[in-house]
Amino acid sequence: MTKRKPEGLDEGSVKDRRINFIHINEISIVDKATAAFQNGIPYVKLCIDSTSGASPWIKPTVINATFGPITQSDDIFSINKNKKLIFVTRHLSSVQKVTKLVNSVQNANVRLIDTNIVTKCIIRDVDTDLFIEDIAAELTKQSIAASKIVRFKKKGTSEPIPIVLLEEIGRTNRSDIRIGRLIFKVYKFIEKPKLCYKCLKFGHTQIRCRNDKRCKNCGGAHNECSDVPVKCFRCGQAHDALSKECSFFLIEKEIIKLVRDNDISFNEARKKVNSQTYAQTVREHSSEENSVKSGQEIADLREAVKELSNIVSNLTPKVNDIAKLQEVNRQCVGRIAEIQINLDRQVEENINLKKHIEIQRATIESLQSKIAVLESNFEYNPIPSPIVGDDQRTLADLNQFRVGSGGVISDFG
Ligand SMILES: [Zn+2]
Ligand SMILES: [Zn+2]
Ligand SMILES: [Zn+2]
Repeated sequence: MTKRKPEGLDEGSVKDRRINFIHINEISIVDKATAAFQNGIPYVKLCIDSTSGASPWIKPTVINATFGPITQSDDIFSINKNKKLIFVTRHLSSVQKVTKLVNSVQNANVRLIDTNIVTKCIIRDVDTDLFIEDIAAELTKQSIAASKIVRFKKKGTSEPIPIVLLEEIGRTNRSDIRIGRLIFKVYKFIEKPKLCYKCLKFGHTQIRCRNDKRCKNCGGAHNECSDVPVKCFRCGQAHDALSKECSFFLIEKEIIKLVRDNDISFNEARKKVNSQTYAQTVREHSSEENSVKSGQEIADLREAVKELSNIVSNLTPKVNDIAKLQEVNRQCVGRIAEIQINLDRQVEENINLKKHIEIQRATIESLQSKIAVLESNFEYNPIPSPIVGDDQRTLADLNQFRVGSGGVISDFG
């Protein structure tokens, strides 16, 4: 267990002025996964990387060879955009084996991704006299697997306020929690979207940002400008890009809510919200908003719609062409397969023919030499007296002609 007072000590926390004290329960990966599975989390995610950042295992063949034998068939690996290896599993045994293996490799790191295994809740009216270490000890007594407890403080001050955030491992639907003799009502905590104050993108904060600076007033690649009217580069409205009223900020909020409420991935939630938002935007633009739009804006919109329609109608024949090409391609592939089979057959036949020809040739050669011997012995160079050894070819030699297998007549033995 670690206690830390981030103020003035921890870079990450100094910038987040809401946070006062953090208590992190340092639970091992396997213990965390065990608690998660016991408390209704269907799967856990491990992030594997190295001291240099990227995973030591990137190539699919290497991943298969390394982790294939120790994981289950429904375990999934993927590589994220930072070249870290993400391992998703429903099996505690896989967590144990993968963790052990990664830890045995020098410079390789593995950690459990907390986001999908913790339930965050807010406990109000927790007296500021009660230290978070005491709360942690209380929860441990009740076997509540708290991974993090945060005591909030008054904005801009170091004064603690009676609000505590609890991150509990597992899908818990608690409505209250007991600390000592007191029962507290708990409220679901849904975090605000992370919005980078540097590059103005969602999903990270400026501490981790490696992108270029962007102006919140106009979206340009420079520090804050002041000579132009403020206009959000995302939605076009008259607010800066960090505004909490921006429709894009509200969309991000909706995405986080969906993820937390329905236990779906950010990608799924984003798709869902985007399709809803699209429908909503179309509705809005076709009703109220049009009434406040100027004639020029409507004309611009009409022009844009016309252009889009043109693009779509230009694309339609191309899509048809592609479908045709795909059909032709399918037929070609079928034909090639047939040709390949025929070719294989031909090759096999050719090999057999070649063998046959060789056998025949050998037979012919043997026959020719036999004829030559016969001719030399009996016709053109008749031997006057059959004195054995007088001639190079003897009857004994001739008798040594043999008929080999497959009708081949072998040479002299
Ligand atoms: Zn950024
Ligand atoms: Zn600017
Ligand atoms: Zn906006």
